[in-house]
Amino acid sequence: MIHYDLVCDQGHAFDGWFSNSAAYDKQARAGLVACTHCSSTKVEKQIMAPGIPSKSNRKPEATQRMVAGPADPRLAQMMQLMRDYRKHVESNAENVGNKFAEEARKIHYNETEARGIYGNATADDAKALIEEGIEVHPIPILPEDGN
Ligand SMILES: [Zn+2]
Repeated sequence: MIHYDLVCDQGHAFDGWFSNSAAYDKQARAGLVACTHCSSTKVEKQIMAPGIPSKSNRKPEATQRMVAGPADPRLAQMMQLMRDYRKHVESNAENVGNKFAEEARKIHYNETEARGIYGNATADDAKALIEEGIEVHPIPILPEDGN
């Protein structure tokens, strides 16, 4: 489990959790890592800081800062929040699997019953949906996803 501070091409700082650096690379390449402020998928890793939130004293430097040490207890809380969020999504929305983009579009254009859905989308799908003004967000990745 890795916590990355990320920055989008608009300069928004946000963060995300990934099973490992390869998982991050894969998702970033696939456009699944979107800015929480503007939904841009042009994002970059900012600083690697497992354990110690450093937002207040972050400096705009290109190098990666890394911190060794035990995890902050807030990590556990964040994990729980993400689990709760995902549970909420999964129990209140319909899993449409790989038809996510198609269904999201239909709902947006009132071609089908309005309801919550979740599923899989390719980077191009997600980008196209956002460009069409359809609000979509990635579901947080949890450590158990890697199991
Ligand atoms: Zn942004």
